[in-house]
Amino acid sequence: MPHIVVIGAGITGLTAARRLLAAGSDVTVLEAEPRVGGQLHTAPHAGIHLDVGAEAMYAAIPAPVELARELGQGEDIVPAASGTTWIRTERGLRPLPAGFGPAGPTRLWPVLRARVLSPAGALRAGMEPLRAGGTIDDDTSVGALLDRRFGSQVTDRLVDPLLGGLHSGDVRKLSVTAATPQLAALARRHRSLLLRRRRPPGAGPTFVTLRAGMQSLPAALAAALPPGALHLATPVARIERAGAGVDVTSEDGRSWSADGVVLTTPARVAGPLLQAASPDAAQAIGALRAASVAVTLLSYPAGVRDDAPALAGTGMLVPSGRGQLLKAATFVSTKWPHLQADADRQDGAQRFHIRASAGRIDDERIDALDDTELAARVHEELAEATGLTAEPREVAVRRWPRTMPQLEVGHAGRLAAATSALQRDLPGVVLAGAPYVGPGLGACLRSATAAVERLTPTLEELTT
Ligand SMILES: Cc1cc2nc3c(=O)[nH]c(=O)nc-3n(C[C@H](O)[C@H](O)[C@H](O)COP(=O)(O)OP(=O)(O)OC[C@H]3O[C@@H](n4cnc5c(N)ncnc54)[C@H](O)[C@@H]3O)c2cc1C
Repeated sequence: MPHIVVIGAGITGLTAARRLLAAGSDVTVLEAEPRVGGQLHTAPHAGIHLDVGAEAMYAAIPAPVELARELGQGEDIVPAASGTTWIRTERGLRPLPAGFGPAGPTRLWPVLRARVLSPAGALRAGMEPLRAGGTIDDDTSVGALLDRRFGSQVTDRLVDPLLGGLHSGDVRKLSVTAATPQLAALARRHRSLLLRRRRPPGAGPTFVTLRAGMQSLPAALAAALPPGALHLATPVARIERAGAGVDVTSEDGRSWSADGVVLTTPARVAGPLLQAASPDAAQAIGALRAASVAVTLLSYPAGVRDDAPALAGTGMLVPSGRGQLLKAATFVSTKWPHLQADADRQDGAQRFHIRASAGRIDDERIDALDDTELAARVHEELAEATGLTAEPREVAVRRWPRTMPQLEVGHAGRLAAATSALQRDLPGVVLAGAPYVGPGLGACLRSATAAVERLTPTLEELTT
């Protein structure tokens, strides 16, 4: 049986392990932390459990939801409440218009009515059907494409807070083909993004989560591994070529001989791990940037809702141009009613929970603040935006240093350089996960499947 070592027990690594086992391989999973899940992390806070990493699955991308069902979690999939998402503007909070997705407007009228754009900006956006054309390749940024089509106000006031916020990135640096392949495909296929024929929006929620928190998805994957396959608290220190195979050594000196390796750690770890055996791959991976982000949980007395009607919405987005630390906030108690029900059941402590995200690429300010200072700044910005007056009773900060991958212009070239150097120096080692395909569970699952497919010829050779 071929033996494959999977490095990292996040959603990518554990999904790859599942697919490899199904293909008949012997699998070892090595994980640095004492828990599985990586960026899927559910932690106790103020008497309940809240996600401090990814909080939701986008229902339009079926793979993560299908995986949860495959693992027997169908009954635990819960929808987000429908409600207003606010955008912070210079004139206060405005609702995110309907007909607006991460990649720009699909319907103009709701965007105009939302009064996020100035009259001149709205007029310019309406000229999109006349502004088609232009090349779209890996050197085209999302911002450049949307500036050309809709004008810079759509980019700055709507796409930046939504898509830029999701990626913690600069939309004028993110590659349209790497970070938003669907937008690139649509823009190539249709003369106008506004006039193209659209399928009517499907019924059902936009976002769903898992009742016990998103970490329950990797936990279920881990529970399905054969006994002894998963090694927690086992950071890998070295990957070396050993004849036709690969040797993987952990920091505590244990070693595993493998026929193949799926490497799913963040890029800041993958580069140094490959440095000795494939300096060219390490260099190409070293050029992949990632933003540091921090999630702050703030729990207010439940009555806070009465002072701040905006908290009846599901959350808010903040454009980067406003100079604030906050990039987005989820009004957890409104968006995820099941969590409030849990809190009510458990101790009756009435709280209104907010989950606030800060940190963007090339903005180091969160690193200069300790957790108390960061929580205080985030609270001030929330209070200023929503009008809430109470102080939070419980706060917690979870930092994700250099974690949010930036699929910037030229990404495809850097990835190709890393992949071909690996094929030459360490055949049998494949890269997978968010650093290469971007944040988002759907992309990570596709990446895990693609990694296993790339190993398939090796596996077939070994089994025949
Ligand atoms: C704050 C935040 C919010 C997000 N929100 C959403 C969301 O709502 N919806 C969504 O779809 N996506 C969201 N994402 C993105 C999504 O969570 C990630 O893209 C995805 O979980 C990445 O999975 P992965 O397995 O590729 O990487 P990771 O989860 O980073 O897993 C890599 C694993 O490698 C391990 N590792 C590191 N070094 C070593 C070593 N030396 N040896 C062994 N193991 C090692 C790590 O401990 C980790 O467990 C969010 C991300 C963050 C940070």
